[in-house]
Amino acid sequence: MKVGFIGLGAMGLPMATRVVGAGHETFTVTRRNRAPVDALTALGARALATPADVARAADVVITILPADRELKDVILGEHGLLEGFSRGKILIDMTTATAIGMEEIARAVVAAGGEVLDAPVSGGTPAAAQGTLTIMVGGDPALLDRCRPLLETMGKQIVHVGGVGQGKVVKMVNQIMAAGHLLVLGEAFALGVRCGADPATLYEVVKSSSGYSRMMDLRLPGFLLDGRFEPGFRLDLMKKDVNLALDSARSLSVPMLFASCVGQVFAAASGAGRGNDDFSAAAQYLTEMAGVRLSEARATRGAGL
Ligand code: NDP
Repeated sequence: MKVGFIGLGAMGLPMATRVVGAGHETFTVTRRNRAPVDALTALGARALATPADVARAADVVITILPADRELKDVILGEHGLLEGFSRGKILIDMTTATAIGMEEIARAVVAAGGEVLDAPVSGGTPAAAQGTLTIMVGGDPALLDRCRPLLETMGKQIVHVGGVGQGKVVKMVNQIMAAGHLLVLGEAFALGVRCGADPATLYEVVKSSSGYSRMMDLRLPGFLLDGRFEPGFRLDLMKKDVNLALDSARSLSVPMLFASCVGQVFAAASGAGRGNDDFSAAAQYLTEMAGVRLSEARATRGAGL
């Protein structure tokens, strides 16, 4: 397949690397930030001047960009993908963005003769590198069948979840839960530490108890327990995802009491300068309100009261 890949960030670069590695002729777009473009072209991909050129060269174009604004810019903007779309070409958008924005883009692409899959991902950068992402796909099931071999270069669990836009909905639900699990973990561990517990012991015990969530495995070792916050997944991107959920909830009159607090903590942590850190920094922001850093508590505690 001739594949276009636009958005070579923390997720996109390892995903595109797997697409190139699977033998697909791959095209991307030149950016001022050369490093990821150079990394992909060194593997055999070609960098073209504009998204429109990528759409002309490829049969299938994959996008994974920060959010709605960038997606609209790349697809509907000047020299955007739409200018190069023609009958039979396919757009697979893997961005975490809004269902409404996705539907608007899908209408424009279909009007140009193209087809669309809405396919956000979960699993983070390690799964992106290993090709084990969960991919939640909205769109025509027959189109998904045709694209499945390509998606299987990046993901292991590929689930059809409904029409275009439903991928974005399922991802939004996952994100609000992931953000909530993270903050509950931070708040509860801060209390435990203030009561004299060792965070590593808390992790070991809660891992096989009813308070467990997978977020513990994803963000305690290598992040909160080690005091390291290299993204990963940038805090400002998670703030965007929480706000997507809150905006949808507001427009549908769905109460989200807990998620509203989660949104406030992410806003405060971002305002305090942590926006480009990994999103687990939001939990550290919370623990610090209790005077606790899990990495330091780990080094000094554990001997009992
Ligand atoms: P990053 O911020 O790391 O990367 C975003 C990429 O988009 C950058 O390479 C940026 O290029 C590129 N980009 C922005 N605007 C344009 C444009 N106009 N044309 C071409 N490229 C552009 O984000 P992530 O990779 O972390 O996330 C991407 C999406 O995936 C988001 O929606 C996020 O919510 C979602 N996601 C992220 C996960 C994670 O763990 N990181 C996990 C699951 C989903 P440049 O640097 O040149 O500006």
